[in-house]
Formats: sequence, structure tokens, C-alpha cells
Amino acid sequence: MNLTATNHRIPLSDGNSIPVIGLGTYSDPRPTGKGPTYKAVKMAIDEGYRHFDGAYLYHNEHEVGEAIREKIAEGKVKREEIFYCGKLWATDHTPEMVRPALERTLKVLQLDYVDLYIIEIPMAFKPGKEFYPKDENGQWLYHKTDLCATWEVECHPYFTQPKLLKFCQQHDIVVVAYSPLGTCRNPMWVNVSSPSLLKDDLLNSLGKKHNKTAAQIGLRFNIQRGVVVIPKSFNLKRIKENFQIFDFSLTEEEMKDIETLNKNVRFVELLMWKNHPEYPFYDEY
Ligand code: NDP
Repeated sequence: MNLTATNHRIPLSDGNSIPVIGLGTYSDPRPTGKGPTYKAVKMAIDEGYRHFDGAYLYHNEHEVGEAIREKIAEGKVKREEIFYCGKLWATDHTPEMVRPALERTLKVLQLDYVDLYIIEIPMAFKPGKEFYPKDENGQWLYHKTDLCATWEVECHPYFTQPKLLKFCQQHDIVVVAYSPLGTCRNPMWVNVSSPSLLKDDLLNSLGKKHNKTAAQIGLRFNIQRGVVVIPKSFNLKRIKENFQIFDFSLTEEEMKDIETLNKNVRFVELLMWKNHPEYPFYDEY
């Protein structure tokens, strides 16, 4: 498939399509504050991004919606050119809570529809106003659900997911890679004992060869094998950089070399919930 900056949608088996690169919008709202998401999404639309990955949990979904609506009003994009993915949080897994949660997201975004709505994590927490409910002893309050999980997949050169990818490709399922740059390495939720992906020698030396950065090599690796990437950046230089992956390609040998980097390193291990009965990462995918 010839992917370009203006034409990079991957067909889905239901007749829809998904842009192969999206802007991730998760950022800890405490240090980030208000405003950067709105600016980042507007800049990203100007750069050519048409896919946005957000969630009610991220506390900035209203900024994503506002930026998209403004760009539509300016005539820069049409709603149907934008692909927005929203997420159902763990406290809303009870079936009758799903629709109101989606409606709340639409209200926050002030959009009529989302293009994709996924289960954020396949482990339920006690329903209620607290996103991260705990009891008086500080223990997590889990919740039992009968979950037929829809699950998106961390994926990057240190976690290439060959088995899962093969299965998905055989069944016409498109994989979306979150944390494609190896995350922001926030110790609150990331296993920071794992090596930093962007410091990898091979990615950096291939970067020098192609006049690209290690981040661009990592992203190109995934899109070249049909995996959608949603790198997060609120920095204009890096938003641009992450989108400049359509003007070069990796050779077959380079793709194979990157595949050998796989260390089965999962950055988002969510170890704080490892005793949840539905904790997903003991299973091989
Ligand atoms: P990423 O792998 O996208 O890395 C983001 C970090 O890398 C940020 O600190 C960013 O900083 C930095 N960065 C971005 N571009 C570059 C670059 N070119 N060079 C160097 N550093 C760079 O991590 P995320 O974990 O944020 O994953 C991406 C998105 O996936 C999330 O934002 C979220 O939308 C989604 N996600 C979904 C999950 C789920 O629902 N299960 C779980 C985890 C993520 P800066 O902003 O300063 O550029």
C-alpha cells in the first residue's frame, strides 16, 4: 500500500477506514494543565493528522472536541475526514452504563458521533464517580464483569507482537499501537526499569542513514507493516516530526533487523492492578 501524507487510510473490513497515524492525547492533566491539548490538536490538523485518540478519563476530551469543531468551522476539514476514537473507562463496564458513558463523551466533545469506541482496559472497577476507587484501607475496589474484551495493543520495536499481528492480519483485523514511542516513562504507570526505546542504537543508526530520528524509524516500522500508530505529542516540532514518515521507506532487510529488537518489553504493565481477576497481561497474545 502506498501511504502518503494526504492519503494514508487503511481499509477496515466493515467498509470504513482508519488513518494509519493518529495523535495520542493522553497527558497527565496535573502538570499539563488546560490548553495544550487544544493547541496540539489544531496544530496536528494543520499538519495533516486526521485521527485523534482520546478518552473521557484524560480530562481533556473537551479540548479535543473544541479544536476539531473549530477546524471544521474554519473549513480546514470536514467531520467525515476526522477519525476520533473515544474510550469506555473501567468504572462504566456494566452494560447499562455503556450508552450513557458514550453519550457523555459526545456531549463533552460536542460532536454527533465517534468513529470508534473502545474498552480502555479489560478490567472493571467499582462503578461510581471515582475513576480509581479504593476502600478505606487503600485497596483497589474491583468489580466483576462478564467481559468479552475488545482490546487495543501496545506495539513498538521492543514489543512487536508477531503472534497477535499474524492472527489479526489473517482475520482482517487492523491493530492500533498505543505507546508507539515507548511512552512518556511516567513511573506512576510505566515500567521504567525497561530500556528507553528512543535511545536504541539500531533505531538511531537507521535514523542517521535515512536522515530521520529514532522516533520516525519506529513509527515507519509499524505503519509499513500495516499497524496504525497514535504517538502523543503536544510539541509542534515533534507533532510535525512524527507525521513526516511518508517520504521514506525501510528496506526489507531493515524491517527484519528492527523485528529482531523485540524484547517482549511491555511499558504499560499496569502492575498496580496485577491482582485483578481479569488482569490481562498474564496471557500470551
Ligand atoms: P508515546 O509512545 O506516544 O510517547 C509519548 C511521549 O513521547 C511523550 O512524552 C512525548 O512528549 C514524547 N515524544 C513524542 N514524539 C516524540 C519524538 N518525536 N521524539 C522524542 N519524544 C517524543 O506514549 P503514550 O503512552 O502517550 O501513547 C500514545 C497514545 O496512546 C496516548 O496518548 C493515548 O492516546 C493512547 N494510549 C491508550 C492506552 C489505552 O487506552 N489502553 C494506553 C496508553 C496509551 P511531548 O508531548 O513533549 O512531545
